[in-house]
Amino acid sequence: MPGVIRSSEFKADIQVDCLIIGGGAAGLTAALAASETGATVLVAERENRLSGSTALSSGLIPAAGTKAQDKQSIADSEDIFFADIMAKNKNTADVEYVKQIVGQIPKTIDWLSDKYGIAFHVLDNFLYPGHTNHRMHTVLEKTGVGLIHRLETAVFAQDVMVATGVQVSELVVDRTDKALGAICLRPDGTNERISAAAIILACNGYGANPGLIAEHIPEMKDALYFGHSGNQGEAILWGKTLGAELLHLSGYQGHGSVAHPHGILVTWALMMEGGIQVNAKGERFSNEHNGYSEQAVSVLAQDEKIAFNIFDERLAVLGRGFDDFKKAEQSGALIKAESSENLARKLGVDPSTFYKTLAECEQYASGDQVDPFGRNFEPKKRLAAPYYAVKVTGALFHTQGGLRVNCDAKICRPNGVPFDNIFACGGAACGVSGPNVSGYLSGNGLLTALSLGEITGTKAGKMTSESY
Ligand SMILES: Cc1cc2nc3c(=O)[nH]c(=O)nc-3n(C[C@H](O)[C@H](O)[C@H](O)COP(=O)(O)OP(=O)(O)OC[C@H]3O[C@@H](n4cnc5c(N)ncnc54)[C@H](O)[C@@H]3O)c2cc1C
Repeated sequence: MPGVIRSSEFKADIQVDCLIIGGGAAGLTAALAASETGATVLVAERENRLSGSTALSSGLIPAAGTKAQDKQSIADSEDIFFADIMAKNKNTADVEYVKQIVGQIPKTIDWLSDKYGIAFHVLDNFLYPGHTNHRMHTVLEKTGVGLIHRLETAVFAQDVMVATGVQVSELVVDRTDKALGAICLRPDGTNERISAAAIILACNGYGANPGLIAEHIPEMKDALYFGHSGNQGEAILWGKTLGAELLHLSGYQGHGSVAHPHGILVTWALMMEGGIQVNAKGERFSNEHNGYSEQAVSVLAQDEKIAFNIFDERLAVLGRGFDDFKKAEQSGALIKAESSENLARKLGVDPSTFYKTLAECEQYASGDQVDPFGRNFEPKKRLAAPYYAVKVTGALFHTQGGLRVNCDAKICRPNGVPFDNIFACGGAACGVSGPNVSGYLSGNGLLTALSLGEITGTKAGKMTSESY
């Protein structure tokens, strides 16, 4: 159980200005920003390599008003992006906080690109649910692995210490709850004591902690967890012990399209561009365009907790632009048939029901009928034989609730008073999705990892250098 030790003095083995707990996108971005202030920086990562959920992710970061968007002649604005986020979370997130994040992210993307040569481009061949404009930024590889490798390379080129195999087990604070440092556990059972003038919590949320999931997100307690195993929830446990304010702990990102039993993400671009989901009866059960996050719950509510993604050759070509999709195809997750009847037989669903479902989609596309689930079927995105299917299930990707932070990304008490020198970014901080699964707009995860990463690193670094 991670703890907090209260002590008036702390004798340490190592002394740094900024201790960053966690080496994912948030921690590495914070490390770059902190090192620019001249602070000595140590990133402590419990695993033996840098990965986090960041490396498991699709690596897509939404931002409005970047140089990358300009270069691709994409018109967008912070106001439209802000409105999209607030529409998705149904105005349940803090307005000023969301404005700050939306205003920060284009600066962070441009800074990483200009200063560290991390080139971003924008996916412009489809829109993710709820986004008005093309604004998903990605590195060349279009993967989270590509993103973490590029951040790692940038960090290693700076004067930053990165220690892997270092699990921070306890925070040490004085009687006023000012952080003095932390105690770390090495895999061989030995401890290290690190004193720090500022601590940045970049250790994500509690997706890998079944007890906390059962407590805060009971609907997902039996679901597949698809995020990183290191995300054990220490940030919120420390925060709770310190009396910090925790917000929206029931919020999370789910996903309704994980190939089953292969365990590979199947891009939601298929649904946005004309694909549909049917259950084991061959019937649609939702508006696929509401969002992939809430679709996790809808899929898990179907018989055997599964659904089939139905698409065609045109969409298979689109899917092959994504590494995960290619992996799914190589793993044999795709089922292909020349006719709807053959596909239904291969899936074990009733052919006549499945045929009726496809015929209804045709009616919605031609405007003869209105989809009872409210989806707008575009005529040019009709499905055509040969057909494909992938069996999928719903999963928990990461938690969105966490520590409330102020405009300097310092964690706060319930009365709004910030802690002196404890900061939080990425999944350790409360996100911008509100308290429900449906509040997650695609990309909200890396959005706060990178934007708050830069803010925490800059603020914590400056604070420590000013104290000399
Ligand atoms: C399959 C999948 C796809 C996704 N796709 C996207 C996407 O395209 N766009 C998007 O915006 N979001 C996406 N997300 C969400 C996104 O991955 C996360 O929101 C983001 O990576 C969080 O970054 P982070 O740095 O806060 O956490 P992480 O990247 O998880 O890093 C936290 C690190 O802290 C370490 N740590 C934890 N506790 C300790 C401790 N006590 N001591 C030392 N180290 C510790 C962990 O081991 C981990 O390495 C996806 C998530 C998944 C699972």
